[in-house]
Amino acid sequence: MLDKFKDECGVFGIFGHPEAANMTYLGLYALQHRGQESAGIACSDFTRVRVSRAMGYVSEAFNHETLSTLPGRLAIGHVRYSTAGESKLANAQPILVDCLHGQLAVGHNGNLVNGNEVRDELVRAGAIFQTSSDTEVIVHLFARSRADNVEDAVVDAVSQVRGAFSFVMMTRDRLIAVRDPHGFRPLALGRLGDGWVVCSETCAMDLIGATYERDVAPGEMVVISEQGLRARQVFPPAPLAHCIFEHVYFSRPDSYVFGQSVNEVRTNLGRRLAREHAVEADVVVPIPDSGVCAAIGYAEESGIPMRMGLIRNHYVGRTFIEPQQSIRHFGVKVKLNPVRSIFEGKRVVLVDDSIVRGTTSRKLVKMARSAGAREVHMRISCPPTISPCFYGIDTPRRTELIAATHTLDEIRKYLQADSVGYLSLEGLIASVNGGKSRYCTSCYTGVYPVAFPRNEAAYLQLALKLDEGEPLAVEDKDPAIF
Ligand code: SF4
Repeated sequence: MLDKFKDECGVFGIFGHPEAANMTYLGLYALQHRGQESAGIACSDFTRVRVSRAMGYVSEAFNHETLSTLPGRLAIGHVRYSTAGESKLANAQPILVDCLHGQLAVGHNGNLVNGNEVRDELVRAGAIFQTSSDTEVIVHLFARSRADNVEDAVVDAVSQVRGAFSFVMMTRDRLIAVRDPHGFRPLALGRLGDGWVVCSETCAMDLIGATYERDVAPGEMVVISEQGLRARQVFPPAPLAHCIFEHVYFSRPDSYVFGQSVNEVRTNLGRRLAREHAVEADVVVPIPDSGVCAAIGYAEESGIPMRMGLIRNHYVGRTFIEPQQSIRHFGVKVKLNPVRSIFEGKRVVLVDDSIVRGTTSRKLVKMARSAGAREVHMRISCPPTISPCFYGIDTPRRTELIAATHTLDEIRKYLQADSVGYLSLEGLIASVNGGKSRYCTSCYTGVYPVAFPRNEAAYLQLALKLDEGEPLAVEDKDPAIF
């Protein structure tokens, strides 16, 4: 409903816990913000892998009864928002197959840029696909591998795909985690008693009392079994391309992602934003929840007090019955309501993390004015979003991104704000560890770190919402991969 890039997916895995399915259920609860369309858990008692998947939130997908059908000390879980493939139960994950190498369940966070190409080759070779998800190519490649053990078959499979992937996988008796060599999506590793946990974000460890140990390294495969943990580097070193939008918006502020506290990064973004786009004002108001950390930083740096001027209704479900008589800006009003006493007669700085189409921001500026604001200044804690994502985030086509087609002043006029200020790319990069070379910033630059196979272009044009004839700019980061 709100005008945001859509989160991709969340993955979770646990080894060595008597209530593995229950722990996974809780882990998925903590990762719910990463995908709300479907949820699934696969669990093994070391003799057989069983899976349960359903559409909807984690709380809707599972109950005591379904969890009791998943016995065992080893489990993986997945929450999904469809980035490749339709939204339907067949596409829910984990995907479970039984083949020559035994059972394998797979959960994937990311997007395979050559998924369609590999799929076409497999179909030509006689493979029958059950889903329209790019993740299924992995299980086909695994099943067809001539490697003489499971781990090598997994390596064989993941070596044939490109793009963004943080995989959690399981066989009857081991948990496997693999991350693409660029490290697009996060994947954390931790301990729970004698057991092990892997998950997209550390907030999932906090909920179950696990302790964060380290990230699964880009290009690394971690295998956890009764024999303990073994790690091996399965890809040659490649330039890093951590998704910087994880810090801007996707990840929860209570998580550590790419070795940094998301909360600290976002607060710093707000501080820098205040330095880059200072304005005389009476109050800083965050757009909840995404703008809160940046607004705190903005207020701290500028000395302007921050107040929660927009109150979020936390009990809004995914659907609601709209009134037959139209109410202006109904969708946003259901979620957010202004506190009149905070806006009345004030010069207000509204702080948000990003603007996609601008539709929600425009309504919120209007809401602030109708609550009595004298001036409304919009401040955004990342640079203008000008290009779609190909690495596991659902984005609209380029022409729908307001910053791709409008100048700053046109955006200001559209939002009906007194001023608009975006954080610079330099300011964003300066707020994260390690500098530009470690991050993907393609949605701000239109330059992509991992290219697409030539015959994928037509597919991408359609499926990933480029405009007709629109060229792809590719950063020459990794010639080996092109
Ligand atoms: S294009 Fe943007 S959203 Fe996609 S991986 Fe790169 S930084 Fe993240």
